[in-house]
Amino acid sequence: MSIHALSRAAVLGLAMALSSTASAQTLSDRSPTVRAMMTDSYSFQLGDLRITALSDGTVPQDLHELLMDTTQSEVDLLLQQSFLQNPVEASINVYLIEDGARRILVDTGAGQLFGPGFGGRLLDGLEAIGIEPADITDILITHVHTDHTGGLVADGQPVFPNATVHVGAPDTDFFLDPSNAEKTGYAIQYFDEAAKTIGVADKAGQVAPFSGTETVLPGIVATIHPGHTPGSAFYKVTSKGESIVFVGDIVHVAAVQFPEPRITIAYDVSPEQARSVRMEAFDDIAGSRQLIAAPHLPFPGVGHIRAEEDEAFGWYPMEYRNRIDN
Ligand SMILES: [Zn+2]
Repeated sequence: MSIHALSRAAVLGLAMALSSTASAQTLSDRSPTVRAMMTDSYSFQLGDLRITALSDGTVPQDLHELLMDTTQSEVDLLLQQSFLQNPVEASINVYLIEDGARRILVDTGAGQLFGPGFGGRLLDGLEAIGIEPADITDILITHVHTDHTGGLVADGQPVFPNATVHVGAPDTDFFLDPSNAEKTGYAIQYFDEAAKTIGVADKAGQVAPFSGTETVLPGIVATIHPGHTPGSAFYKVTSKGESIVFVGDIVHVAAVQFPEPRITIAYDVSPEQARSVRMEAFDDIAGSRQLIAAPHLPFPGVGHIRAEEDEAFGWYPMEYRNRIDN
């Protein structure tokens, strides 16, 4: 995913105005807009595990430019039915799994690569819940796109010095070889950005690639589902009979791709395969009532999928809980 809709300069100017206002004010008199820019996190229990969704930020998406196998009028109608209009705001959700001494991230957000104001809030979110970068033991990368691997690196250096980075081997093979841009026609920008993110982690000896289906950590099974990228992976995490699947980018726009899962997006390396993966996964997830987490659904992006009429699906965010004895 990248930024297509709004001028970076315009949004940057707004962000700077807000942050200078915030520094001059106390917490109690911050405007609602400034408050909305503060850290977002949401924790829940899964068996023995504590899982926390952390917002890396949101970015505007011009769906008229990005969505494929559809028309502008179809997209506008589907958005209108969900009380939205183009451009829509996409969440960038990162997840932290705490499993005893293990602290595992699922993806790392955009880091510095989308520029000021767009993503890059993961470290603030971790700090707010008392986690240092050095505390992270493992990172599960759903795929090698900038909004998932950007946070691995800051100023050219690895951000999480003690972490093993688990990633699908077909993604490192594809994105760390820029000759694949010419071979496939996929934008060279993604290969340049991969060199600055997963490439740096690879050179630092942090990367542990996997293939097919592998148990990458106790209770965590990774499975490659090629389509959105060649090494896109699902991670199924199980504890005490409960489970969640981190599905990566099988869906970008809830309002459009749940009612019409055939609609693809320009970020797909193989749109045809990405569509098949989405349709099969929606069927499986709906049929098994499996809890999932998705990086670009509205924060926290955790919930269920239900099969509805006319081969459509519905998205049901998880129950919200906020009390002490949880
Ligand atoms: Zn993404």
